[in-house]
Amino acid sequence: MVILLTKVIVIRPSRCIGCSTCALTCSLVHHGEFNPQRANIRIVRDDFAGRFELRFSSSCNECKQCARVCPSGALQLVELSGESGVNDR
Ligand code: SF4
Ligand code: SF4
Repeated sequence: MVILLTKVIVIRPSRCIGCSTCALTCSLVHHGEFNPQRANIRIVRDDFAGRFELRFSSSCNECKQCARVCPSGALQLVELSGESGVNDR
């Protein structure tokens, strides 16, 4: 039996404080500059609702660097485990 560990990003927009750390990190990692316009994640303030929305672009490669730096838990890495039954008899 083989234990498989996969990390996924859990998104909780209600926890977002709009700091842009995720977008700055994404642009630095993928383009070598602090420029949220080039990030694969957008933080959009909804003034009416008084909260932020988080939108990933289609060019996001799911590297998860944004989730590693989010200070509020709006983006959070969670480990999923599963079992492979390849040699499991
Ligand atoms: S997962 Fe990677 S590519 Fe996608 S938004 Fe986050 S840092 Fe950018
Ligand atoms: S998702 Fe996290 S890192 Fe990105 S703006 Fe919101 S609080 Fe900041």
